[in-house]
Amino acid sequence: MESSEFIHAGDLEIAVPPEKLIPTEDPVQRVEPMGTIRSDDLHIFLRENTLREIVAHAKSNPRCELGGVLPGSFYQWRGRLWIEIDGYIRAEHYVHTAASFRFTADSWSGILKEKLRRFEDKPLVGWQHTHPGYGVFLSGLDMFIQEHFFNLPHQVALVVDPKADTLGFFQWKRGRVTSCGFFFVLDRD
Ligand SMILES: [Zn+2]
Repeated sequence: MESSEFIHAGDLEIAVPPEKLIPTEDPVQRVEPMGTIRSDDLHIFLRENTLREIVAHAKSNPRCELGGVLPGSFYQWRGRLWIEIDGYIRAEHYVHTAASFRFTADSWSGILKEKLRRFEDKPLVGWQHTHPGYGVFLSGLDMFIQEHFFNLPHQVALVVDPKADTLGFFQWKRGRVTSCGFFFVLDRD
């Protein structure tokens, strides 16, 4: 495990991410930008096999909202902040209807157990949920989840519409949650 240093920012302690070569500058990685990525954005790297897992879950029940969390790693490279999403953990116990999704205490304990088993002490770099047939945005309830459970600068939200086959990320930018693009990392074969 890399050692983490801390910067004091008022009452907050923010871990300084370790320096690691960003995949866009790594000749071994095959990455494709998707959507609008600004130079000062947190750069998000999502692997093809993880996206396949998320989409399979999203399409497993297009009649109601489904979700889960994204374990990963947070790095910097020459002043650019970036996250690598290392996998996907489905929320198994949740409250959902055709148009709402929220985590419950049971879903959290299951998620944390599975995270420890499969991803050890990796942090959660975000969460995912579906909006079957009504598009990619964050509702008031989604914003509540983002603000209370995923409020660190490197924690993102992914919304998938499995009926329209669209998806989009949202990230914290100057204290606000804004939509953003991401880098798709192709599987190595
Ligand atoms: Zn939502």
